[in-house]
Amino acid sequence: GKADIECEMLVLGAGPGGYSAAFRAADLGMKTVLVERYDTLGGVCLNVGCIPSKALLHTASVVDEVKHLPDHGISFGAPQIDLDKLRGFKDGVIKKLTGGLAGMAKARKVEVVTGVGAFLDPHHLEVVTAGGKKTIKFAKAIIAAGSQAVKLPFLPEDPRIVDSTGALLLKSIPKRMLVIGGGIIGLEMATVYSALGARIDVVEMLDGLMQGADRDLVKVWEKMNAKRFDKAMLKTKTVGAKATEAGIEVSFEGEQAPSGSQVYDLVLVAVGRSPNGKKIGAEKAGVAVTDRGFIDVDKQMRTNVAHIFAIGDIVGQPMLAHKAVHEGHVAAEVAHGEKSYFDARQIPSVAYTDPEVAWAGKTEDECKAEGIKFGKSVFPWAASGRAIANGRDEGFTKLLFDTATHRVIGGGIVGTHAGDLISEVCLAIEMGCEPADIGKTIHPHPTLGESIGMAAEVFEGHCTDLP
Ligand code: FAD
Repeated sequence: GKADIECEMLVLGAGPGGYSAAFRAADLGMKTVLVERYDTLGGVCLNVGCIPSKALLHTASVVDEVKHLPDHGISFGAPQIDLDKLRGFKDGVIKKLTGGLAGMAKARKVEVVTGVGAFLDPHHLEVVTAGGKKTIKFAKAIIAAGSQAVKLPFLPEDPRIVDSTGALLLKSIPKRMLVIGGGIIGLEMATVYSALGARIDVVEMLDGLMQGADRDLVKVWEKMNAKRFDKAMLKTKTVGAKATEAGIEVSFEGEQAPSGSQVYDLVLVAVGRSPNGKKIGAEKAGVAVTDRGFIDVDKQMRTNVAHIFAIGDIVGQPMLAHKAVHEGHVAAEVAHGEKSYFDARQIPSVAYTDPEVAWAGKTEDECKAEGIKFGKSVFPWAASGRAIANGRDEGFTKLLFDTATHRVIGGGIVGTHAGDLISEVCLAIEMGCEPADIGKTIHPHPTLGESIGMAAEVFEGHCTDLP
């Protein structure tokens, strides 16, 4: 049949990968259509991920910060929490950003089609909209359909068992909360709920929380957060749960499992995310999808079908918004005929916990596993004037150098604002900086960012003069 819409570029999914790809394609002059099943643009990140979690984490960090003020001679009473207002603040943040995206789509003449899309063949996509079906004929396509939270099949259906999306709804503040999965998403939500007064248990199958980060960074976070958790059960699995009137009764197995079952008012399941590759009719377009639902791509973000690209969470780890955006730009540029490649030297990771933990490039663990000879320098924040003035000098900044090339190949920071600080390390790795390039760059004093310059100076064997 005849298509309702024809375009040069079709983008499926309007998360950070999809909208970035669509905007870049439109900027390059391609007639672009963006298909999204939800009414707002922005995907997981803006609606139920990065942004709402950071709005709540900001609130949490202020609440926690205030608890230190008696040491400065200033005290407040216990916080009065109006959950409706807090939710309103968070929703307002989302609305500003998704509204902004809609405006940007319009300004670029990107046509947004709202509905669930599925491929019919290598050049057609069908969208089930509120008003019926629409067929879109495309010359090229970018798949950016993202991922969703993994469910644990043995958990009952109960409003007190939620994934990150449910936790962000902030329906109530539980007295006792269990976080299943000690990764970044689980620990960020634990930070929010504990600041609001919940007591938290966390259970993790592996032997440490916040996998992926070097243990020396995580140790600082652990020490500062010991009071947040009643139990942090490592090498332990959740094996069953029963919904009772008193709460969700959960049983565990493993090295640090408690002797009996435990009762919780809220259980957050944060055990990972699975890609949406099997839900978009990819096979009809001839696009290969792995057993787990990922779509394999080359360095130009091309799938096995030359005119169809894929980006973001659906192409693999790390499932991060900034990776999706970068890939989106590459895909759109390649589709337009440019010689773009995904050849990033580093993709940073940040846990927006308190303190924050951020790392970029190689970690020490990776260097050791890959047999890379590296030198390391650490600048403890106990020697940073700004960190001491902030009353938060528990952190440190670490740089890793390749012994053969002397270039910066990695770095990690634990401390307040670590996520904002790591960008300098990202740039240093991307530019192939040597320690002197960073150490001889004049950093503003007194700042936390200075600690990166200081770490480079430490590596060069210079003593630093500034407090
Ligand atoms: P998504 O954001 O998943 O978007 C995919 C879009 O496609 C969705 O809008 C979906 O509705 C749509 N879609 C799917 N199938 C169809 C279909 N058939 N038809 C129409 N539309 C469809 N990352 C960070 O970098 N920093 C953070 O701080 C961070 N915090 C997070 C916190 C939480 C709680 C969660 C859950 C995630 C967080 N992430 C964070 C991860 C980040 O959200 C994802 O990596 C990012 O959203 C991936 O972007 P994407 O474009 O690949 O897909």
